[in-house]
Amino acid sequence: MVKTPKDNDIMSKLVSLAKQRGFIFQSSEIYGGLNSFYDYGPLGVELKNNVKQAWWKSMVHSRKDVVGLDSAILMHPKIWEASGHVQNFSDPLVDCKKCKRRFRADHLLEAQGIKPDLGTMKDKPKELEKCPECSGELTEIRQFNLMFKTFMGPVEDDASVVYLRPETAQGIYVNFLNVLDSMRLKLPLGIAQIGKAFRNEITPGNFTFRTREFEQMEMQYFVHPKEANKFFDDWKEQRMQWYLDLGMNKKNLRFREHGKDELAHYAKKAVDIEYKTPFGWSELEGIHNRGDWDLSRHSEFSDQDLKYTDDAGKKFYPYIVEASAGADRGTLMFLLDAYTEVAGGRSTTTKSIKEVEVMLNFDKVLSPIKIAVLPLSKKPDLEKTSQQVLDSLQQNWHCQYDQTGSIGKRYRRQDEIGTPYCVTIDFESLEDKSVTVRDRDTMEQERIKIEELLDYFKSKLKS
Ligand code: ATP
Repeated sequence: MVKTPKDNDIMSKLVSLAKQRGFIFQSSEIYGGLNSFYDYGPLGVELKNNVKQAWWKSMVHSRKDVVGLDSAILMHPKIWEASGHVQNFSDPLVDCKKCKRRFRADHLLEAQGIKPDLGTMKDKPKELEKCPECSGELTEIRQFNLMFKTFMGPVEDDASVVYLRPETAQGIYVNFLNVLDSMRLKLPLGIAQIGKAFRNEITPGNFTFRTREFEQMEMQYFVHPKEANKFFDDWKEQRMQWYLDLGMNKKNLRFREHGKDELAHYAKKAVDIEYKTPFGWSELEGIHNRGDWDLSRHSEFSDQDLKYTDDAGKKFYPYIVEASAGADRGTLMFLLDAYTEVAGGRSTTTKSIKEVEVMLNFDKVLSPIKIAVLPLSKKPDLEKTSQQVLDSLQQNWHCQYDQTGSIGKRYRRQDEIGTPYCVTIDFESLEDKSVTVRDRDTMEQERIKIEELLDYFKSKLKS
């Protein structure tokens, strides 16, 4: 029986699977770890790359109206004044005077069923008197800017402060004219970018869900103001469809429209795509109608005219509809969605030695390894044929060669990391020049001629 566990400890099981099987490691682990930073292991980097490539393919390569960009992480500090980040990109913070723990004041209020008024929260309400951990006294609320600062050049003074970008979007806005001029594009047009962003989050947590260094996949779509609502609705649907097309369970996804009181001051409309995690419904991606805020502000602060001129010679600031997703959050949600426990094991013929077997039933596009090549024994002539099979397959797909343990165990190991196909080379293979291909999902096995393997997999997998 296949069951997806609903229990809360799925997160701890996933964290431990991620470590054991080379997906995600705690950063700086041998030094005791660095809180909220993670490293992607050999399988994790493949998975995350596949997520990013699927996004790039759908957002850039399969469209004629969207182009790509890779802007610098450190940018002119005035950009963050124009964007409002220097002034507004902060969270309300309280510290416990006794245990020294630090909390987000809005989170503490929400936990007590009180809707925090984020815009005006300056005075401390009585619900924020005591520390929830040790009942110690909490400090006054102070606004804490989430941008990481560093210094450029040899002198560490105010004039040399630069910020690690807290979002990739600003790199797109400040390159709007460069892209427009160099690519001879017309509205509506999109610019997409994947890259690192940094936020000094007060309360990071839930594994890679909220970290201080993360990767974003952002697309900014520049449109005529009159068309912004239409494109907002279009992008909302297209972005949801992307997750569904990559196999996410519809039941685990929903839209959450932002109420008027939640909207950023410049935003006309905002909707989140949320995923049902073991720690509750959580934002995976935001789709926003940002109006003309970004281009008009950067025009004002840079003294450059970032208006668009249409065919009739009319000048105006395009509105921006953005689809802003997290590559790490996406990867985590794809992992959670694929995580499946099978009580009593999957095989109907042999008894499992484990009470529960785990499999990751990723969409094939996302699987870190597409094909495992498994020689039945270590005998030289079998190894030779297996090596030849591996050589030809790995020209097209990422493969793994595994020759240790019983074949059943090796199948389980591949199920556990989500490999869709296993190719077994046995003694008969030397005679009939065929191999056994096992399908992860159906567990069916097919005998395929070695010379037909490439075509077989071309029909099953994309290169
Ligand atoms: P949240 O409310 O969860 O802090 P946000 O609304 O501030 O997120 P945006 O600024 O809209 O997030 O960023 C776009 C996307 O970037 C998010 O939907 C998320 O996928 C990702 N993201 C934002 N902050 C983090 C973080 N600290 N760690 C990992 N991913 C993040």
